[in-house]
Amino acid sequence: RPKTKEEVMERVRELDVRFIRLQFTDILGLIKNVDIPAEQLEKALDGQVLFDGSSIEGFVRVEEADMLLRPDPQTFAVFPWQEQGEGATARLICDVCHADGTPFEGDPRGTLKRVCAEAAKLGFTMMVGPEPEFFLFLREPDGRPTTKPIDQASYFDLGPVDRGEECRRDCVLALQKMGFEIESSHHEVAPGQHEIDFKYTDAVAAADNIATFRFVVRTIAIQHGLHASFMPKPVAGVNGSGMHLHMSLFRDGENAFYDPSQPDGVSPLLKQFIAGLLLHAPAYTAICNPLINSYKRLVPGYEAPSYIAWSERNRSPLVRIPARRGRSTRIELRSPDPACNPYLALAVTLAAGLDGIKRGLTPPPAVNRNIYAMTPEEREAEGIGMLPQSLRDALVALEADPVIREALGEQVYRRFVEAKSIEWEIYRSQVHQWELDQYLSIF
Ligand code: GLN
Ligand code: MG
Ligand code: MG
Ligand code: MG
Repeated sequence: RPKTKEEVMERVRELDVRFIRLQFTDILGLIKNVDIPAEQLEKALDGQVLFDGSSIEGFVRVEEADMLLRPDPQTFAVFPWQEQGEGATARLICDVCHADGTPFEGDPRGTLKRVCAEAAKLGFTMMVGPEPEFFLFLREPDGRPTTKPIDQASYFDLGPVDRGEECRRDCVLALQKMGFEIESSHHEVAPGQHEIDFKYTDAVAAADNIATFRFVVRTIAIQHGLHASFMPKPVAGVNGSGMHLHMSLFRDGENAFYDPSQPDGVSPLLKQFIAGLLLHAPAYTAICNPLINSYKRLVPGYEAPSYIAWSERNRSPLVRIPARRGRSTRIELRSPDPACNPYLALAVTLAAGLDGIKRGLTPPPAVNRNIYAMTPEEREAEGIGMLPQSLRDALVALEADPVIREALGEQVYRRFVEAKSIEWEIYRSQVHQWELDQYLSIF
């Protein structure tokens, strides 16, 4: 991947790229872009392309509308699905700045970079490996997406039952051409549900990858006449889609979570990180599970967490320590879903873990039994709390947590809560089909 402006310019000439998309994400994590012809690229790389920020959801107000896009050369990638040679299209992910070139506080990528810089002050680089899950659904003849899965297969099944296999394979190929290192991909538990795992990278690259991943999978699915959905719980009664995050901290090129002198091979630092993740879980849930629908996934019975606990073995809790040691020593956070803004999700979870380290916190004892089989009294005795049960509860918890609010920054925090409160108000005034089915004939 190119590292400098000159290298990008050279690649563009070599590959005969005609169009460049300057990409960034809004507060909700949706990719936005401005298309420029290759002739404008040099100017863009010099940080001279302005755009009207007032037109972007969750961004600035009209009076401070002119924003600047600063492309990151390392994010250069050609879209493999567009004609190569004649009129190839490439993208560059950008940092959003004020017109004077100073970082814009409302840019999620900038938010993550700021929290990563705080980690760097303590000597740490966070590495992240995500496991995004998604559904492949059929479309109506007019193109509208349905919730009809394309197959009736299940966990690790393979063709011919797995009709999504071909589409998934094309997703993997396209991602690889864009520089992804894909570790594995497989059918997930629910009909039509899939997972593609990619190799861990530093946090900013991981967030870039997640944003790119969703957009690539959507694009390839359309080419197969399908609809790829990252909605957390599109179908009631079957598993929803999560995006487990495998996280570790590196210091001086070594994994700081690994400690061969400990009986379990993990460092006290890892435990402190877990303690921070458990302590701040209610607040960062608002960011990691940002939709009304996210909370329909976090219910017992579908392999998604609903309690705040950690484990060395068991897969039901919020945080787990996978068996791998050495450089692969890591924790797995199981609550995030693929609808989150990846930059903000990594910023708040990193801040939560770091807080545990800074304060030298000790997590409550590991829970190696099935939490769902415990009585409320047993859970209470073990200090096992619940994750927020609705977006509303999560927003209340976010408001009460200064560490997570600070990680977001005032601007992102305010705009996020504003957008999500409106979403909640609209939702709570709806009359749902379930209520009619349940009440109409009886009351
Ligand atoms: N789909 C499950 C979830 O919602 C996870 C299933 C798995 O990967 N074991 O988190
Ligand atoms: Mg997995
Ligand atoms: Mg999975
Ligand atoms: Mg997992």
